[in-house]
Amino acid sequence: MPIMNKRTCQLHGTPLNRVKVPISYGLPAYDPAWSVEKELFPHSKTAVLGGCLIDPDNPDDATVLVCFDCRAAEEKWRSENPPEVFWARHINSSK
Ligand SMILES: [Zn+2]
Repeated sequence: MPIMNKRTCQLHGTPLNRVKVPISYGLPAYDPAWSVEKELFPHSKTAVLGGCLIDPDNPDDATVLVCFDCRAAEEKWRSENPPEVFWARHINSSK
């Protein structure tokens, strides 16, 4: 039985890599990708939300576990779903 010393992506089975990403503080603008990221690219993590509390002691970046297949999936999703397409669909489906 293999020793599970490395976490893998539950979606792709790809070993997760430690990557430094920027932390964005403050209230972020709504990103349409948030509505699908948990299903389609749960470990993409291109940025970390630091929340609304701005503390001078807060770090500028964080180390997170990233799946590169998730990053590829996010890139593909973003190229297929530019914001204007997303919003047009969203408005149509809410009628
Ligand atoms: Zn993945």
